[in-house]
Amino acid sequence: MDETAAHTLADAVAALKAGRLVLMPTETVYGLAADASNARAVAKVYEAKGRPSFNPLIAHVADLAAAQKVARFDDRARALAERFWPGPLTLVLPAADTQAVCDLARAGLDTVAVRAPGHPVAKALLEAFGGPVVAPSANRSGRPSPTTFADALEETGTAAAAALDGGPCEIGLESTVVALLDQPRLLRPGAVTRAEIEAVVGPLAEAEADAKRSPGRLTRHYAPNSPVRLDAPSPRRGEAWLSFGPGGRGRWNLSPTGDLSEAAANLFAYLRAADRTEPVAIAIAPIPDEGLGEAINDRLRRAAGFVG
Ligand code: AMP
Ligand code: MG
Repeated sequence: MDETAAHTLADAVAALKAGRLVLMPTETVYGLAADASNARAVAKVYEAKGRPSFNPLIAHVADLAAAQKVARFDDRARALAERFWPGPLTLVLPAADTQAVCDLARAGLDTVAVRAPGHPVAKALLEAFGGPVVAPSANRSGRPSPTTFADALEETGTAAAAALDGGPCEIGLESTVVALLDQPRLLRPGAVTRAEIEAVVGPLAEAEADAKRSPGRLTRHYAPNSPVRLDAPSPRRGEAWLSFGPGGRGRWNLSPTGDLSEAAANLFAYLRAADRTEPVAIAIAPIPDEGLGEAINDRLRRAAGFVG
């Protein structure tokens, strides 16, 4: 891609449909967007950001009607959406359709974070694309979120197939994240204030102490029922085996070609499928701890119960 060029909306829609990434302006910060239903595309987002773990991503939608296709809204959620959307408020709700926002995007949770951004370019893209897109901040992991087109281009380099220039971000601060799973809970303070939210749904509970450091951990991450055995070059009797690479046999080869992005895309679906066969254990082939492999191994260590 020409590093300085902005693309058209049509370029961006075509890129999303082809499973490629798009630099998308929002009123909060620039996001690196991908088709939320396409696990291969979502894997590319984690890869481009260089995140060492899979945290759940926000599904961006055009409006409340689109949000109701991916999440289950109760009266409180509807009231918040009606008051603050389009705008910088993200709602964490029970997932309605687990295909629309894929397992990898939800980090395997049965909840989903949704938001309808107010930026006209984001709105236009979401309407034209017609489905939810994940769009975490376009910075590489550990760096500040980009709030201008130039900064966003510099951060993403060649990762985005199309880049939309929406000018400087008006808010420049991440969205407020509120969970409506039991009592309304503030997971991340942001552009919409606590008082504004409490005026609609009443007092907000705090995120749990541990969840505060990493709000994605509030809801327990998906863990298989079967025990998980890591670094298994081959399965033992009665085990289901998630293999990896050209030598891998069996039903669940995370990537026959040894491609980490393909392995990330298959990871949650294969864990679930293997778990459903009620094996003695799920044995998992060694995964190289480089690039996306670091996030895959983090996830697997959690599945194996080594990390809380
Ligand atoms: P970002 O997309 O980088 O702005 O961050 C997304 C935020 O939403 C993070 O704080 C996540 O932990 C949080 N989040 C997304 N999905 C969920 C979910 N299903 N449950 C709890 N928190 C979530
Ligand atoms: Mg960020």
